[in-house]
Amino acid sequence: MPHSQNLKASQTMDLSKKEIIEYLQSDGEELFQLADGVRKENVGSEVHLRGLIEFSNHCKQNCLYCGIRRDNSSCKRYRLSEEEIITTAKEAVKEGFKTIVLQSGEDDGFTLEKMKRIIKEIKSLDTALTLSSGEKSLKTYEEYKHAGLDRFLLRIETTDKELYRKMHPDMSFENRLKSLERLKTAGLEVGTGCLVGLPGQTTESLAEDILFFKEINADMIGIGPFIPNPNTPLSDVPAGSLKLALKVMALTRLVLPKSNIPATTAMEALNKNGRIIALRSGANVIMPNLTDYNFKKAYELYPNKPLTKDSIKAQRQKLSEMLAKIGRTISIDYGSRA
Ligand code: SAH
Repeated sequence: MPHSQNLKASQTMDLSKKEIIEYLQSDGEELFQLADGVRKENVGSEVHLRGLIEFSNHCKQNCLYCGIRRDNSSCKRYRLSEEEIITTAKEAVKEGFKTIVLQSGEDDGFTLEKMKRIIKEIKSLDTALTLSSGEKSLKTYEEYKHAGLDRFLLRIETTDKELYRKMHPDMSFENRLKSLERLKTAGLEVGTGCLVGLPGQTTESLAEDILFFKEINADMIGIGPFIPNPNTPLSDVPAGSLKLALKVMALTRLVLPKSNIPATTAMEALNKNGRIIALRSGANVIMPNLTDYNFKKAYELYPNKPLTKDSIKAQRQKLSEMLAKIGRTISIDYGSRA
């Protein structure tokens, strides 16, 4: 590693808000290269695959942007059975997946006892386990951890309090923050992230989002462009810019060099090469969707979600080929934060 490059990478760790804003307003080319270098130096060329199972689209919340919001009566609701979840997880582990991610709306139908049984069953397989099911009490997060859960994803969505309030009727920014603290207290690895392109969101607030990820020292950060869903109150708002989302992601790599950063599905929804572009601009994780086709179709947060009918084995094979073309490999490790 040439000295100058080392220096450049280390100089970027403490970016000021002003510098972040300048990067967000730039064309991004220099930033993407820099983030790619910082990624390579800090987390290497291996890509962690996280096998995603969308286990329920029932949701008691009403986030303005989200297609599975409570008031969307055109959303066809489903809940996977415990057996369906475990069967998919088993197949994924058999095919070499080292992390399973269970995601859902905020669904009280999955009680603490039921979730604990699922966590224990999956953790009896050879895999790390992540859950993403919204805001819970400290006791619940602790019980999840005790049952074997490793990680939890809960995006802050935006650190702009006023915007947060507008986007999330009957939710509170305070409780979102507290939930992230509770996750840390419970000893789970914490993932967070934000949406890019919400109506009224400013460049300054995106810079604050990036500084927030650093402040809480997030282990994983998922960043995605907002995509308008026709069955939500934000149907007429234009989609966020992929380029801007990539810039937020690349800057996050600079401020948190060793964190795990996925090439998100929303990026792929806006551009079929979105994942590759993201992997070359700071990302080191992909989350292939392993949910049964008919269910993942109904888990419609936003339109144009990529929906493959490929088997778990075929998905993995295709990803391995895609990664080989850009000089990357699939990690065989659990992919905890380095
Ligand atoms: N209920 C869980 C998981 C929510 S869905 C929770 O509260 O964390 C996962 C993510 O999808 C959300 O955090 C949100 O950032 C993203 N999302 C929802 N609607 C979207 C949209 N219209 N465009 C882009 N991303 C969206």
